[in-house]
Amino acid sequence: MVEVVATDQTILVVGGGIAGVTAALEAAECGKQVILLEKNPSLGGRVSQLYKYFPKLCHPACGMEINLRRLKANRNVRVITMAEVTEVSGDAGNYDVTIKIAPRYVNEKCTACGECEQAVEAEFDDAFHYNLKKRKGAYLPHKMAYPQRYVLDPNIIGTEDADKAKAACKYDAIDLDMQEQTVQFKAGAIVWATGWRPYDAAKIQPYGYDRYANVITSVELERMMDPFGPTGGKLVRPSDGKEAKNVAFIQCAGSRDQNHLKHCSRICCMASLKQTTYVREQYGDEAQSSVYYIDIRAIDRIDDFYQKVQEDETVTFIKSKVASITEDKETGNPILNGVDTEGYNRYSNPHDLVVLAIGMEPSVPAGDFPIKVVVNDNGFIEQDESNGAIFAAGCSSDALDVNRAVQNATASALRAIQVVNRVAGTEG
Ligand SMILES: Cc1cc2nc3c(=O)[nH]c(=O)nc-3n(C[C@H](O)[C@H](O)[C@H](O)COP(=O)(O)OP(=O)(O)OC[C@H]3O[C@@H](n4cnc5c(N)ncnc54)[C@H](O)[C@@H]3O)c2cc1C
Ligand code: SF4
Ligand code: SF4
Repeated sequence: MVEVVATDQTILVVGGGIAGVTAALEAAECGKQVILLEKNPSLGGRVSQLYKYFPKLCHPACGMEINLRRLKANRNVRVITMAEVTEVSGDAGNYDVTIKIAPRYVNEKCTACGECEQAVEAEFDDAFHYNLKKRKGAYLPHKMAYPQRYVLDPNIIGTEDADKAKAACKYDAIDLDMQEQTVQFKAGAIVWATGWRPYDAAKIQPYGYDRYANVITSVELERMMDPFGPTGGKLVRPSDGKEAKNVAFIQCAGSRDQNHLKHCSRICCMASLKQTTYVREQYGDEAQSSVYYIDIRAIDRIDDFYQKVQEDETVTFIKSKVASITEDKETGNPILNGVDTEGYNRYSNPHDLVVLAIGMEPSVPAGDFPIKVVVNDNGFIEQDESNGAIFAAGCSSDALDVNRAVQNATASALRAIQVVNRVAGTEG
């Protein structure tokens, strides 16, 4: 049974992505008691699903590792994974919170030895790899997972696989009797950092994401590039495994569109510029990247990066909103159809692979929050007095890059600290 010790001076952080982890650490390092909740079995959020991240093109593990070291060194943060908030009542400085914790079926004795994974047979879609790959029913969420602890898929409970996993574990770490738990505790302030999710590409019908194997999304490309990803780090076509040297990027896929997301997702221009470097990294001078764009919105200091990509001869920019994608049945090549708005020429351009620079929307839809918060027309949480002591951090407040998500999380942590300090002052 999970026990949570908390008071009205505790800060609850919901969401363990880069923003939530940052907010939790900033508050904890100021001496505050923090509970950090994450619905997945591991911290890290969507940054841990990137291959490299701009502007420095370093591996996400670098940034996360420093944070995890800080987290391990700080006794003020209590991390609870596989948990979601179901109810919040009360006011600023005095919230009653109810959370639901899903069973992991693996306890803290787990050494991540992997024997249970070897022992089981059934396989399931792996959400970490956007379902492009399968994983076993006993699994480590990903190589850098924190905590480094295995999980059993609930679908194997009650099957032979569950017994095989238990029998394989020499450390008595598997507990098949674990149940979902409901826990209640107090909190003085809440930092809401549940982040973003990719827009459903299948809804953009003219682009045929659900019909053509060689039309993928930008988040899927990040996974394909990972050596531990679905293609072992090779940039190849899903339809036939052939090298994808000639890659088209379609900007504003699902963003800035009355029929889909009305907002500009702000990050996807930079994400595609970054991803053209992936094509070059794999195929050198043979690479061909074509970026179909309405206008490129490269965020401030990243302009230098844009300039560098523009100087790369393997990258072409085509000013056009692609009207539709069809498929050459013989070659499997997606064909992009539209009008180039600079020369007003019609085109039908074949490519090996198309990457949709997919829009970012809030991961918690407006209306699904367990407490009333003010959201803007795009579903992102506003900073508003009527939110009491609930402060948005990172991409739950807007589509942000890591740098901005971290800055914004630090600001929210500070606001939460001010609230619990006031509570402490009142009580003192
Ligand atoms: C294709 C693409 C490439 C990108 N590349 C870069 C890049 O190179 N550099 C860069 O700076 N930025 C990049 N970004 C943006 C980057 O992903 C975001 O800045 C970053 O993910 C923001 O972190 P976050 O913590 O706010 O949200 P997230 O990463 O979404 O984390 C939110 C966390 O909250 C958890 N959560 C969700 N709902 C709940 C709930 N109800 N209860 C508890 N927990 C919950 C999630 O599981 C997750 O762990 C890219 C974006 C895209 C689309
Ligand atoms: S649950 Fe047991 S067998 Fe599985 S990885 Fe952990 S310690 Fe190893
Ligand atoms: S960041 Fe670029 S690709 Fe993304 S919605 Fe805005 S303009 Fe379109």
